[in-house]
Amino acid sequence: MHHIPFYYTTMAKEKIILTGDRPTGRLHIGHYVGSLQCRVELQNAGGYDKLYVFIADAQALTDNMENPEKVRQNVIEVALDYLACGLDPTKSTLFIQSQIPELCELTFYYMDLVSVSRLQRNPTVKTEIQMRGFEGESIPVGFLTYPVSQAADITAFRANIVPVGEDQEPMIEQTREIVRRFNHIYGPTLVEPEILLPGNAACLRLPGTDGKAKMSKSLGNCIYLSDSADEVWQKIRGMYTDPGHLRVQDPGKVEGNTVFTYLDAFCRPEHFGRYLPEYPDLDELKAHYRRGGLGDVKVKKFLYAVMEETLAPIRERRTEFEQDIPGVYDILKAGCEQAREAAAATLDDVRRAMKINYFDDLELIEEQAKKFRK
Ligand code: ATP
Ligand code: MG
Repeated sequence: MHHIPFYYTTMAKEKIILTGDRPTGRLHIGHYVGSLQCRVELQNAGGYDKLYVFIADAQALTDNMENPEKVRQNVIEVALDYLACGLDPTKSTLFIQSQIPELCELTFYYMDLVSVSRLQRNPTVKTEIQMRGFEGESIPVGFLTYPVSQAADITAFRANIVPVGEDQEPMIEQTREIVRRFNHIYGPTLVEPEILLPGNAACLRLPGTDGKAKMSKSLGNCIYLSDSADEVWQKIRGMYTDPGHLRVQDPGKVEGNTVFTYLDAFCRPEHFGRYLPEYPDLDELKAHYRRGGLGDVKVKKFLYAVMEETLAPIRERRTEFEQDIPGVYDILKAGCEQAREAAAATLDDVRRAMKINYFDDLELIEEQAKKFRK
């Protein structure tokens, strides 16, 4: 269970939660444990003023500019995954980034507050540039600057709590720097956000089924929330374990063994009673694996049963929402309208702070009238 840290409840006047995902594919279990689960828990626990969840299509275009159709098709997939996981449009505002033009204007002003070298130092962007195969001159400006646009996404809604995976830490830090710089130059206007990471270490950056560092849509190593039960089992069956654990009697390694990492992320003590009563808990299961005498298939079957407890209800709800696609677009449209109103209010504040609200600035007009009057 995630708890909103104590200082939010004592210091912040309002609790505004915001987070989003790129529509570059359906959502996977890495998204779920890294961020989605936390949002749904926060939503259902209440005690916040606003919860915004958005589909970052404009950001997805920064590295999918040649494949806009992929982004367009995946907007609904992500929306379905949201609803399937239990995000409730009566409690949360679900919207699409590109429909909020105020975000572009904020980004444009924030760009003056960040240096090119600062952007080039962002470790997540650096890794992503390598993964995408962009080199030197071919890096799109929009891609390099997406952390700035992310600062706009967060500040436009005055979000102070951002539940995301660990790879997003540099983005939140960049946003905080922009907020401080803006407030320093123009006076207190923007709210500094805090990252809310999953409490469970295995969920910070869930590895892919191939054992690679991060489960990621772009790497093809995902278990999707919408995979069928059979697909889930096939993927678990083929998963990387400990390459030194060849025969059942061999001692095995648990560290870096993805099957155990997933158990760390999904398994709760009560699962043993239900699916593997011969072990009291995960520690005992791990101890047996280390000693030798515990086969991979047995552990994988247990993992499958454990994950299905989470995935089966999500899959069922998704199928229901899939029967009413126009209704899902209506939910997003209503969310966009609400979101736009909030972003416009912040943009008004920003323009006023920057003193570029010329026509409302009667003092300026009067002062200049005096200056020029003969
Ligand atoms: P892409 O490859 O297009 O960047 P992605 O799979 O990395 O896609 P994002 O949309 O970039 O997904 O990330 C959405 C959210 O999910 C972010 O908060 C991110 O931190 C979190 N997240 C993504 N992958 C993981 C993972 N493997 N473990 C934990 N959290 C993750
Ligand atoms: Mg990503």
